[in-house]
Amino acid sequence: MNTLIEHGWLVCVNATQDIYRDSYVWIEDGRIIDLGPMAQMPAGLREQADQILDATGQAVMPGMVNAHTHLFQTFLRGVRDDLPLETWLDRVIWRNAALLTEEDFYLAASLGCVENLKSGATFVVENHYVQTSKRNCDHVFEGMQRTGIKGCLARGGMDRDDRVRASLPDFDVSPFLESHEVAFAELERLRQSWHGRDDKYYLAVAPITTWLCSPEFCHGLADYAREHELCIHIHTAETRPTQEWVQADHRMREAFYIDKMGLLGPRTQLVHSVWLDESELELVAARQANLVHCPVSNMYLASGVAPIIKALLLGLNVALGTDGPASNNAQDNLETLKATACLHKVHHLNAAVLSPMQILEMACMGGARAMHLDEQIGSLEVGKCADLVLVNLQRAHIAPVHRAESALVFNCNGNDVETVLVNGEIVVKQGQCVHVDEAKLVAQAQARIEELRATICQNAGV
Ligand SMILES: [Zn+2]
Repeated sequence: MNTLIEHGWLVCVNATQDIYRDSYVWIEDGRIIDLGPMAQMPAGLREQADQILDATGQAVMPGMVNAHTHLFQTFLRGVRDDLPLETWLDRVIWRNAALLTEEDFYLAASLGCVENLKSGATFVVENHYVQTSKRNCDHVFEGMQRTGIKGCLARGGMDRDDRVRASLPDFDVSPFLESHEVAFAELERLRQSWHGRDDKYYLAVAPITTWLCSPEFCHGLADYAREHELCIHIHTAETRPTQEWVQADHRMREAFYIDKMGLLGPRTQLVHSVWLDESELELVAARQANLVHCPVSNMYLASGVAPIIKALLLGLNVALGTDGPASNNAQDNLETLKATACLHKVHHLNAAVLSPMQILEMACMGGARAMHLDEQIGSLEVGKCADLVLVNLQRAHIAPVHRAESALVFNCNGNDVETVLVNGEIVVKQGQCVHVDEAKLVAQAQARIEELRATICQNAGV
């Protein structure tokens, strides 16, 4: 199958930051074979094309990597808008996640993947940590598969409940806890059935946080990840209280403890990292680990401002994530770009602190590097996967456009995405998912929430 995309405003997000005002992209069998300015398009390409997409008036950019989310939280968005992380977990997450069935996880993941694709992410790092039933993770993978998005399931696990029991004495945490035997057997089963499947689906190891995992569990997960060359995905120093918990428990700061557990290396994705100090950032840089920045969630839960500018100065790789939709409350990947820019501008009182290209780089290549898939995805370059997003720039809130990269970061939102290709296959067309009936999916999710809403609201104290 050959596809020609012509006349788009191409933002390559490659090392030389190439941008072509009037461009062509030639795709064969899911790969980018050629691209450049329209004036240099080889003769005869149009005649060879099986399909031609006219991208006049549209930006063409690489598919973004949403490097941290929890898809099941599509079922829990907007339950409470007024809590910090620690109480939000108690009120909104633990009690309500325990209500969800395997079928709910499938439905919630499908909805979440539709949302991600439609807002420009072609790859999602899904941190699924609710292991209340054995098939939950498979259902999440099946949700991704159904929509056509690529993704990594970072399989979350916990074996320690003292912090949750202290704040929720009347709640039974046990459904969330796993024996090491079950956790490793499940990781192995999922690795064999999903990791690398179709060059689209991957598995990562994900101790949820160090304060929910014993040292033995952390060491075991680190060894397992090393043995199978899997990424490690872990919530890190998200809030000041959680950083203090780690210091109270282990008499060292969180990044040093993660390092002591063997969890810090080039394949590690440290999510949030809001309360990492200079010494921790230097350690993370020395270990060549990756940061995942979730600005909207950090603002929503009032967690703080992650030291992203310092991290970039130290040469750290930074990816962007929405975080779960119960603390965002959307997963609009284009909106995340603007939030990132504006948060750091105002925090540093410096309008020039991050350029649009730096932000696009984090959203695309940053995520690709964090997944160790930067040879395959993250930029528009010859030989890479044809994972592309076409964004309509001819709208009243965007036009007239002077600089496409600025428009993408500061004007566009998910509703402006027209077309999405994954491995050259069109999965979003005219702003609608090709493989999923969105209206039906939304109706199914709403109907299920009508059954659960009274209990969820009661649990959340609203
Ligand atoms: Zn999270």
